[in-house]
Amino acid sequence: MLIVIFGFQNLDIPVIFDLLKFKNFINHPNLLIMRTLSEKMKLLLSSLFLFLSFTSFSQDLPVKGFAIAAPNSDGLDRFVKFMEEELGPRGINTLVLRVDFNYAFQSHPELQDENPLTKGDVDKIKMAAKKHGIKVVPQINLLGHQSWAGTLGNLLKEYPEFDETPHVKMPENYEWPNEDGLYCKSYCPLHPEVHEVVFALVDELCEAFETSDFHAGMDEVFFIGDDKCPRCGGLDKAELFAGEVTKIQNHLDLQGRRLWIWGDRLIDGKRTGIGMWEGSMNNTHRAIDLIPKEVMICDWHYNSPIQTPVIFAAKGLDVISCSWNKPQVGVQQLEDMVTFRNHNTSEMKDRFQGVMVTVWSGADVFLDGLEKYLADPSAEKEVDQPWVTFVEVFEKENFVGLIW
Ligand SMILES: [Zn+2]
Repeated sequence: MLIVIFGFQNLDIPVIFDLLKFKNFINHPNLLIMRTLSEKMKLLLSSLFLFLSFTSFSQDLPVKGFAIAAPNSDGLDRFVKFMEEELGPRGINTLVLRVDFNYAFQSHPELQDENPLTKGDVDKIKMAAKKHGIKVVPQINLLGHQSWAGTLGNLLKEYPEFDETPHVKMPENYEWPNEDGLYCKSYCPLHPEVHEVVFALVDELCEAFETSDFHAGMDEVFFIGDDKCPRCGGLDKAELFAGEVTKIQNHLDLQGRRLWIWGDRLIDGKRTGIGMWEGSMNNTHRAIDLIPKEVMICDWHYNSPIQTPVIFAAKGLDVISCSWNKPQVGVQQLEDMVTFRNHNTSEMKDRFQGVMVTVWSGADVFLDGLEKYLADPSAEKEVDQPWVTFVEVFEKENFVGLIW
């Protein structure tokens, strides 16, 4: 028995996945020894192999995450119900909530959206999260994403002096691409007053959620170190990006908190062939060697499960693989995470923290889609939608979690 168990433990993880499908079970070369045994013994031993071997491989991903825009006040009860009935039972333990200005900030009421979430609303989210062991990681986009299409965000509306590119005017009819290269506006990370404002928001939101982790976005920052900025022009963009990440992490650390960011600015978009969205084509990628190792990287790839988590882990950074609307990408990222944890050194393996399914619509659109899909999964089986990714990744995750 021991010989057989040891033999099974030496199998590669993909082989065990294969065995799980039972299609090659009896014929697999590693199990040839079984052919010499009686049929009854085979059955008994095979059950024991599976039980003992999977038990001995038992491990769980630290992060089973879900990221979505915070609901508006009107949609709060529906969202809390979703947390209770879907996130909790599916074992999801991390909820990144994009709040931005959708909170009744007391520190800067001039920055809040209309009809924002109140402290009482946040308490309801917090209670549901506590009940189900879910860590809430609130997000406010810092540095980049200070506008969207033709609409300026609240920060630069109220504080236009923080704009990195004031010479780029917001167009009446936004189109991409455009002559200005305007995707989203950024604030100037070297403006002497910007952090006093944004850190007040960060602190207030973290206190409201009583959280130890904060997500600052920081993806797709195209405007950085602009030549016309009197403070940043001519400076190294990697140093500017890393300087801002470091400043935020250091601020959070004063309260024992940790910074999370999206990973795209830290990937060399040119040499990897990954390009300007999921990677950086504006020379920020060398910041990967300059930022504090405490920062959690959310590495997003939505069209293909590109294996960049290995880059981050090798640099000493914790990393989460993030998917969106392609279920097969999310499921592959999950399997890759398990493989990374099993095939790397003891120093690196725990840096592969887990997976996160992301949603880039409002909460209501997602919940509409999910409810419809759960009522009749066959109707949308082949359709690339985030609710299909959500169901497939966490069904698979629960399966993996039980046996590994
Ligand atoms: Zn600047």
